[in-house]
Amino acid sequence: MTATDRLKNAIAKIEELSSPCKLCPRHCGAKRDKGELGVCDLDDRLKVFCCNLHFGEEPPLSGTGLKEDVPAKGSGTVFFSGCNLRCVYCQNFAFSHNGNGRYMTVEELAEEMLKLQQRGAKNINFVTPTPQILPALKALLIARENGLTLPLLYNCGGYEDMEVLKALEGIVDIYLPDAKYQDHALAAKYSAAPDYPEKNLIALKEMWRQTKNFEYDEDGYMTKGMIVRHLVLPGAVDNSLSVLDKLKEEFADDTGKVPFGLSLMCQYFPTFKAKSYPELVDRLTFEEYLKTLEKLDTMDFELEFVQQHDDCAE
Ligand code: SF4
Repeated sequence: MTATDRLKNAIAKIEELSSPCKLCPRHCGAKRDKGELGVCDLDDRLKVFCCNLHFGEEPPLSGTGLKEDVPAKGSGTVFFSGCNLRCVYCQNFAFSHNGNGRYMTVEELAEEMLKLQQRGAKNINFVTPTPQILPALKALLIARENGLTLPLLYNCGGYEDMEVLKALEGIVDIYLPDAKYQDHALAAKYSAAPDYPEKNLIALKEMWRQTKNFEYDEDGYMTKGMIVRHLVLPGAVDNSLSVLDKLKEEFADDTGKVPFGLSLMCQYFPTFKAKSYPELVDRLTFEEYLKTLEKLDTMDFELEFVQQHDDCAE
């Protein structure tokens, strides 16, 4: 099967799941093609906040710090508006929850992707594509037919539907999912997704099945693989430790090695609705982050990326 046929098949499969909508585990059934909004606040029109080169992803994705004295080329990022999660602390709330963005045609998005390639991007990075994966793939098809050759990066909250992921096999080259919670109560309270732990684990297994064996280009940019992100939340260190334990329990080989990448993040800051939750009004303390780092020290991931906390000099 050609790459184009694979993409057309995926579009057909995802079209079947789109209305009533079953594109994420909520299966909320919105008739988006009739103008109904899903829990994600989206109908079936393509809405994008911005498309730009982005240098803040992990080094093998955007290139920053990858090679000394070699300027980073950046990740060709498409920030989709809307989100299927309802995180009260969302740092992208302006476009993930408050509707900022503009409606585009799939042809316009295809053009934007081609421009990112011309500007030197090393991948096309779909950020929060889950609810808009149908028009996103239609745009990708047009772009591929017009010369887009970059790997596709699927950068998501990790609350994904299995059927959608199966349709993406052979189309997505790199998965960059979150693993946010193992604590069901926190998942319900902060993201309105009490089944997040189970759905996330199933999704990670499928993503990993599709992308085993990391591949890189000659400059060291990743062209195939999976990196799981975890943001440590204030007052929720036990949840973070459980997430790390679960990844080891489910994915480690006989030597204890977890065969994909982990990106540990401490960039939480109180924003959006966080002020309504007393435990979320302050930033993560260094002591809290240190407990998670100490846990990570006892583990072995194929790749590890660790954000530096402001209170840590090293
Ligand atoms: S993607 Fe949006 S409309 Fe579709 S099931 Fe999820 S929340 Fe509902």
